[in-house]
Amino acid sequence: ATPTSIMVGTGRAAQLGVLFRQGDALQTLHDVKTVALDKTGTLTKGQPELTDLTLLNGFTEDEVLPLIGAVEARSEHPIAQAILRRAERAGNVPTEITDFQSHTGYGVSAMVAGHRVSVGADRLMTRDGLALGDAAQIGADYGTAGKTPLYAAIDGKLAAVIAVADPVKPGTPEAIAALHDLGLKVAMITGDNQGTADAIAARLGIDRVVAEVLPDGKVAAIDTLKAEAGPVAFVGDGINDAPALAQADVGLAIGTGTDVAIEAADVVLMSGDLRGVVNAIDVSQRSMRNIQ
Ligand code: ADP
Ligand code: MG
Repeated sequence: ATPTSIMVGTGRAAQLGVLFRQGDALQTLHDVKTVALDKTGTLTKGQPELTDLTLLNGFTEDEVLPLIGAVEARSEHPIAQAILRRAERAGNVPTEITDFQSHTGYGVSAMVAGHRVSVGADRLMTRDGLALGDAAQIGADYGTAGKTPLYAAIDGKLAAVIAVADPVKPGTPEAIAALHDLGLKVAMITGDNQGTADAIAARLGIDRVVAEVLPDGKVAAIDTLKAEAGPVAFVGDGINDAPALAQADVGLAIGTGTDVAIEAADVVLMSGDLRGVVNAIDVSQRSMRNIQ
């Protein structure tokens, strides 16, 4: 590409709210075969709500909600905020907490008012030696509905299965359709449950799902997609997306995302949704065509 066509292209992109931090990215984007998307905060709003609560082993809502709310008050995960909001609506959330631990990709645990409390994915429960039994089916059903299943344990007993649902952003379905029209494959990379990720992907027509990825697994997922089908663009918003944004052939950060993600990206999407990705690729393809 000539310097002029790159200048014209980046200028046109800027008018559409797409900031190319690297002129190279305009050329590289033209060769991309797969667009990989982070789920939470990228495909979805990143503001989940607690939608379902199934109590187990004789526990009551009044026992469970304050205890799990208290642990989640210490976590910054969007799931934590959904659970805390629901707990606060139900009543007083204790503030007396000791031994808080955040188990990345698994969940959280702490001592609350004399009780040992943990909340997280199925793998957190099994890691702590708790068998899910019938609760596994309840969680699987939440997943099939596109909701994220979580489990709560109190004093070594399963106390509840919880579902949180994170609405898809306006613009996401159209953006995925437009990427397909441009001849690209669309993938989703997420730390979320496999069943939940599959349900959301099916609804949106996403071609490839990599789920239950631990934070450092996002980089490996990018490498796998590159090996399968050629150059990959990755779109993300979170701190845990920064290594994958750097590893992708082109990293695109959602402009409303974290500073760490924006700094790791080649392209910043000011609109805050995925229509910016389509604009970025469209401008890239036009710029490269003009000079041929
Ligand atoms: P993602 O950002 O894609 O959701 P994470 O690695 O942040 O990936 O989280 C993966 C999974 O770990 C979540 O889907 C959830 O099951 C569990 N988890 C993480 N943090 C919490 C939390 N504060 N409370 C409950 N579960 C959590
Ligand atoms: Mg995210």
